[in-house]
Amino acid sequence: MIDTATITAMDKEDPLAHKRAAFYLPAGKVYLDGNSLGALPLAAIERVQTTLQQQWGEDLINSWNSHGWIDMPQAVGEKIAPLIGAATGQVICCDSISVNLFKLLATALQMRPGRTTLLSVADNFPTDLYMAQGLAALQGETGCQLQQVNEADILASIDENVAVLMLSHVNFRSGYILPMQDITAAAHAAGALVIWDLAHSAGVLPVELDACDVDFAVGCGYKYLNGGPGAPAFIYAATRHHDNIQQPLSGWMGHRNPFAFDPMYVPAQGMQQFLCGTPPILAMAALDAALDVMTDISMHALRQKSIALGELFVNLVAQCELADTLQLYSPKDPQQRGSQLAWSHRAAYGLCQAWIEQGVTADFREPDILRVGFSPLYTSYGDIWDAIERLRAVIASGAHLDARWQQRHKVT
Ligand SMILES: *Cc1c(COP(=O)(O)O)cnc(C)c1O
Repeated sequence: MIDTATITAMDKEDPLAHKRAAFYLPAGKVYLDGNSLGALPLAAIERVQTTLQQQWGEDLINSWNSHGWIDMPQAVGEKIAPLIGAATGQVICCDSISVNLFKLLATALQMRPGRTTLLSVADNFPTDLYMAQGLAALQGETGCQLQQVNEADILASIDENVAVLMLSHVNFRSGYILPMQDITAAAHAAGALVIWDLAHSAGVLPVELDACDVDFAVGCGYKYLNGGPGAPAFIYAATRHHDNIQQPLSGWMGHRNPFAFDPMYVPAQGMQQFLCGTPPILAMAALDAALDVMTDISMHALRQKSIALGELFVNLVAQCELADTLQLYSPKDPQQRGSQLAWSHRAAYGLCQAWIEQGVTADFREPDILRVGFSPLYTSYGDIWDAIERLRAVIASGAHLDARWQQRHKVT
């Protein structure tokens, strides 16, 4: 039986406990949604202030040189690189995952002339599929088709017409982790390329892009990297591909010499060729400061705590009456899932909303999933205990069945 004494001891022995103080966390609340929007790092408040007042305010346009604004996409990319197992010169910070996927899908398609299939899974995050559908529409039916299969059928679906596999490392709904190394190897054996979406893995579990021989990847700045709402995303491209690719969003920041104002586009070398327009400096400054919180910790330590938080949640559910109503939709084996748990419940939306009213933030995903995310940098074991106690109170009171929850918010 787990009790509050166990929880207190777990928090006391937690080697990452001190990191919680690096974040602003609203008093009395439990935040289990860092997988959708990471919490606010205190360092980001100060950095954005400085960027606004001293840099933009005082130094104005000179800041592009004097404060290194122009090099921020590369500099921030280099801070992300060690978190995802990438050697230097292969990661750049820019745009959103959606836009970056478009660049990479088009690039990959061009690298495999004669092959026209983009292979993905039907349960991939919708924007990934939408971007592939948009590219397919642009290329015309004979130029490109998106094939969506089940996770279990990926390997069997790789044939000689597949130009590229586009897969999410961690499934956004179930948390299921796809075997990156095996799938990448199988794709390469069949002559196909792979793009991995690291939205739910970058910054929370060990990712080894170089060691897995990955071609391309994208990831998110506002989830486990805590870069703030709408923070810019990132692209990884293996060095071996840099000299024989052409991405289609050929904006001036990706030009070899943007300030030559040459009427002809000539791509930059290396990762700069993936840039398009002017970088959002305020947003990038917040992300840059947020990344500093992670420089002195290992992904393995994060992973260990993430698994312990998830297992604690599972075990607390199992030892009370919640076990009768909540069904685990995520893999049971913690090694097979990311830093989140999905629970099926008939009234999952109401449950989520009533829980939020009790100060616990989680989210709802179609069709009946209550999703909780664990951010080992700032989620404590005490948070999990409090969250479970408040969930029990919600169900006991019937607050989740309130008629108000018939109507859903725009963002669930
Ligand atoms: C969150 C998420 C995205 C978000 O894409 P943006 O274009 O950056 O908003 C994309 N893919 C996956 C798998 C995600 O979880």
